Amino acid sequence: MTAQTNDTALMPFDDVLAAYDPALGLEVHVELNTASKMFCGCPAVFGGEPNAGVCPTCLGLPGAMPVVNGKAVESAIRIGLALNCEIAEWCRFARKNYFYPDMPKNFQTSQYDEPICFDGYMDVDVDGEIYRVEIERAHMEEDTGKSLHVGGSTGRIHGADHSLVDYNRAGIPLIEIVTRPILGAGEKAPEVAKAYVAQLRELIVALGVSEARMDQGNLRADVNLSLSPKGSGTLGTRTETKNVNSFRSVERAVRFEMQRHAAILSGGGSILQETRHWHEDTGITTSGRVKSDAEDYRYFPEPDLVPVAPSREWVEELRGTLPENPTVRRARLQAEWGFSDLEMRDTIGAGALGLVVETIAAGAAPQAARKWWLGELARRSNEDGVDLVDLPITPADVARVQALVDEKVVNDKLARQVLEGVLAGEGTPDEVVEKRGLAVVSDDGALGAAVDNAIAANPDVADKIRDGKVAAAGALIGAVMKEMRGQADAGRVRELILEKLAV
Ligand SMILES: [Zn+2]
Repeated sequence: MTAQTNDTALMPFDDVLAAYDPALGLEVHVELNTASKMFCGCPAVFGGEPNAGVCPTCLGLPGAMPVVNGKAVESAIRIGLALNCEIAEWCRFARKNYFYPDMPKNFQTSQYDEPICFDGYMDVDVDGEIYRVEIERAHMEEDTGKSLHVGGSTGRIHGADHSLVDYNRAGIPLIEIVTRPILGAGEKAPEVAKAYVAQLRELIVALGVSEARMDQGNLRADVNLSLSPKGSGTLGTRTETKNVNSFRSVERAVRFEMQRHAAILSGGGSILQETRHWHEDTGITTSGRVKSDAEDYRYFPEPDLVPVAPSREWVEELRGTLPENPTVRRARLQAEWGFSDLEMRDTIGAGALGLVVETIAAGAAPQAARKWWLGELARRSNEDGVDLVDLPITPADVARVQALVDEKVVNDKLARQVLEGVLAGEGTPDEVVEKRGLAVVSDDGALGAAVDNAIAANPDVADKIRDGKVAAAGALIGAVMKEMRGQADAGRVRELILEKLAV
C-alpha cells in the first residue's frame, strides 16, 4: 500500500519546540557475531558467494528442524544485563507470519510477548546531562536474506528488470532492543537519540557480541517520533523511520521528523502512522508503508523449538563477565587521561571515546589521540558526512601517525598529509610517507646546503643575526623550509643557522 504523498513542508526547529513536546522511541537491531546462525549450523557470515552459506533449515525447507544457538542466547542475556534488564526465567520463540521474498520460511522466528530481557534502562550522557532511557525489551530473532534488484538505475525495486535473493544473511542472529517512549528531552531530542545509539554501540562493542558497524548494517536503528501539543501530556501519532545507518543520521532524522510533523499539525492536518525511508544524501524522510498498531502477524509460539529457560546460576555467572559500567568507566578514563570536563564531553559528543581508547592502546598519548580524532579527522568526517568511526582509518593508523611525529619523521603539517593519504586508500601511514616522499629531512648534509643557500640569498638578515638579533632567524628558517618544501626538521635548521653564523 502506498501512503500519503511526500509532504516536506518544515517548521523552523525553534518554533516546533514552542508549540510541541516530542516523544522519541528507538528500536535498534544488533547483528550478533556468533560463528553460526541462530537456528542452524551455517556460518553467520554475510557476503561472499551468494547462497553458499545456506541449508534446509535457514531456507525453510519442509521437515527441517531448527535448534537454538546457545552462544546467541548468552549474548542476548549479557546485553540485557548490561542494560539493567530483568532476564526471563522462561521464554519462548514465536512465529511472526508475513510474506516477503527475502524470508524463505514465510515467517520470522522472533519473540513476541515473552522476550528474554525486559524492564531495563540506560543512562545517556548528553553534554554532561544524564537522560534515563527506559528499555522495554530486548528480544532474540533472526535476520532476513537480502534482495538485489537488477536492471534499474536506482537499485530499488521500481524500474528493475528482475530481482535476485541472497539467503546467506537469512538466519543470522539479531537482538532487537526497544525503548519505552522517551519524553521530556525537548530541544535535546535529536541529541538524546544520537547519544543513546552511540552509547548503546559503545556498550555492544565493550561486550564483544557484535562488530556493531552501522555502515555495514551490523547495528541498525529505527527512529520513532511523535509530537504532542506542549504540556498536554498525551502521545501523538508516531512515524517510524527505518534503518538509519549512522549516529549523525539518527540526529538529523529526528530533527527532520519533528519539523515535518509540526508543519502538518499546525496546518490542521494529521500524521499518518507509517514507516518512513531515510535518505542520507538529501537528509529527508519519505513515505514508506502505512502501519497500524493492530498489524496482524498471527504470532503463535514456535512449535519446533523448546522454551529457553536460563538458570539463575548461569545468569549470575554471565553478570560476572560484564564490562565496567559506562558511567564509572568514563570517570575512570577521564582521570587516567587527565582530560578536562570539556575535553571529555567533546570526545563523547563526537562519538570518539572508543576510538580514543583504541588509539591510546595502540601507543599514542591521550592528548595526541584526542587532538587527531577531534581535529583533523572530525573535520573530515563533517566534510564527508560520515561518522568518525566510519572513516577509512583505524586507531592503530592514527597512533602510528603520531609516532611518526614523535620520531620526527614528519612534522605536524606533513602528518596531516599522511592522514589524507591513508583516508584516500594509499596504504598504511608508513607507506604513505614512502610513496608521497613526506619524510622530513634532518640530515645535516642536505639541510646544511639549504641553509647556506638561504644565508647567501638573504645577506641583510644574516648580518642582523650576526649582530645578535636571533629572532631574525625565523626569516631564514622560512626560506629553508620553502626550499625543502616543508620537509625539514625546523629545530635542526635553526641550530644550523645559528652555528653557521656563530652566534
Ligand atoms: Zn542454515
